[in-house]
Amino acid sequence: MNETPHAGTESVWAGEEHLFSEGAITLPIFNSVTFGYDDMNEWNDVALGKRKGHIYSRNTNPTVRPLEEKIRILDGGEEATSFSTGMAAISNTLFTLLKPGDRVVAIKDTYGGTNKIFIEFLPRLNVEVCLCDTSDFETIEQEVKNGCNVLYLETPTNPTLKIVDVERLATMAHAHGAIVVVDNTFATPINQRPLSLGADLVVYSATKYLNGHSDAMGGLVVGKKELVDRIHHYREITGATLHAQSAYMILRGMKTLELRIQRHNENGMKIANYLAQHPKVDQVFYPGLETHLNHDIAKKQMRGFGGMMSFSLKGGFNKVITVLESLKFAHKAASLGSVGTLVGPPRTTSHVELSEQERANASIPESLIRYSAGIENADDLIADMEQALARV
Ligand SMILES: *Cc1c(COP(=O)(O)O)cnc(C)c1O
Repeated sequence: MNETPHAGTESVWAGEEHLFSEGAITLPIFNSVTFGYDDMNEWNDVALGKRKGHIYSRNTNPTVRPLEEKIRILDGGEEATSFSTGMAAISNTLFTLLKPGDRVVAIKDTYGGTNKIFIEFLPRLNVEVCLCDTSDFETIEQEVKNGCNVLYLETPTNPTLKIVDVERLATMAHAHGAIVVVDNTFATPINQRPLSLGADLVVYSATKYLNGHSDAMGGLVVGKKELVDRIHHYREITGATLHAQSAYMILRGMKTLELRIQRHNENGMKIANYLAQHPKVDQVFYPGLETHLNHDIAKKQMRGFGGMMSFSLKGGFNKVITVLESLKFAHKAASLGSVGTLVGPPRTTSHVELSEQERANASIPESLIRYSAGIENADDLIADMEQALARV
């Protein structure tokens, strides 16, 4: 028994096994803001990092730490830290790594909030932002050569599930001295491990698949110790700390991560195949379909294709309204990666602030529906889709 345990085992055990007390088999939620020391020397040693322990919950907390440890182990990283939300993880990472005069290269199809950091906040700090066509790897490589401190990637992307070749871009970015950051929210470490593909840092919205139940928000950063330590320090001072209660919820959700992702993968594949043959459906965007633009790269770097997909209907937005309002087993809501199916039109959710022309430029059809397949029975989800499409 000296082999590294598999992901399904790590999801349940990693990071937690030495922390149970009083015979409890679940982790306590340490709501304590501060941690007391009767021995002044011990207090001093912990404060200086010479000895293990906790001082103040903005910095570290005994319920939060095991969650950081669990994601570190699942992603195969040197160090991990956590945040109050995914956007806190992403913005703190970028603000730690970039300073005035630097240049960041990123894909155009990042998460909406991330995109706002690039177009609204980083330019104010005199950081040059270069956003490239997500599928145009040659241009991304050229822009990295033109000067790049941080290469920021996300794969698969929202909402059209584009796939970025992490290994190819990380290799060339390192040759030019750039730090490579990958948002792995859609894939999770079960389907894809960007650190093993050459990324330096992986960022997550733990609000999505990692927690998996749409009842807690959080963010995580994993990767090279030297970088994570700097990001953690930035968070200690700026304060977007994950609460112990949320950390517990995410830890609990993560115990079933492999199980849930296996089911999301199965359901995603079945529903995408069903939609692809439906006469009222125009296009289906799912990396597991052979017709997907970058299916080859997806096959190479992913172990499963996930539960996220989008599809467009023949006809206009009124058809979308009919389908969405007819679906029974789908919450009509923003967000994704929950046990329950979630569905929404990018036109009114992630891309609501764009004009029709801007959406067209971004190759987002007006009749696009984003579908986050839950862990329900696939036959029921397909039957539900069948009756909804029949009303169009
Ligand atoms: C939701 C999401 C985020 C932001 O996470 P929050 O927890 O909502 O702040 C970042 N990246 C991706 C890919 C997401 O889906």
